[in-house]
Amino acid sequence: MTNRMPALFLGHGNPMNAMADNDYTGAWSALGREIPRPRAVLCISAHWYESLRAVTAAARPGTIHDFGGFPEELYKVQYPAPGDPDLAEQVAGLLGSDGFGLDGSRGLDHGAWSVLAHVYPEADVPIVQLSIDRSQPAGWHYALAQKLQSLRDDNVLIVGSGNIVHNLRAYDWGNADTEAFNWAQRFERLARDHLRRADFVPLVEYKSLGPDAMLAAPTPDHYLPLLYVLAQHTEGEPLTFPVEGFEGGSISMLAVQTG
Ligand code: ZN
Repeated sequence: MTNRMPALFLGHGNPMNAMADNDYTGAWSALGREIPRPRAVLCISAHWYESLRAVTAAARPGTIHDFGGFPEELYKVQYPAPGDPDLAEQVAGLLGSDGFGLDGSRGLDHGAWSVLAHVYPEADVPIVQLSIDRSQPAGWHYALAQKLQSLRDDNVLIVGSGNIVHNLRAYDWGNADTEAFNWAQRFERLARDHLRRADFVPLVEYKSLGPDAMLAAPTPDHYLPLLYVLAQHTEGEPLTFPVEGFEGGSISMLAVQTG
């Protein structure tokens, strides 16, 4: 029997979580101890959402501080996990006709390192990132991600990093622990119901889920990484929520694990 890796969606929330010690970061660390050690991580991050198709291929990816207005210490954080050029080539090969190129210079964005620094604090698991082509609709991303399914049998951990509910206009910067908005709770609950039934079609077609969905995902960037993880699900395997909670009233920190 092959040892299938799970696939994991992590809600990353505030970049300051990179340096924090809280319930979320504790749960991410626990996942790193519980999940069998992978040979590498393939990360699909909300923060590489551009009109391009690429896979990071640097052997020593840098740490990108792609945010503004945070304390100086956050800009000093380095996460020196190695890259994996062989995996980058393998991924580009699996996505062959979709034309993903190798990017030998891009580092890791904070969607990747702010959470993986807790999952793998020793920075000793290689990380490769796959870009999200912003010109394509949700259904295209879900179908594309299905082409990566064989990686789970090849000891690769696929990690989507975003947030199922992510509305910065409504976010309460002064009070991370404020109660979540009703629409945020409703949308997360709806998403959980569909996830528990492995009923992914409505989640792929989330734009038809009404006004709550429009408030939860006003832009697709933080939502789409979820679809990359759902595309790895095999019929009958468990879907669980190893991390949960809300930040600032309008960001769901829910994590979703398949397998
Ligand atoms: Zn983010």
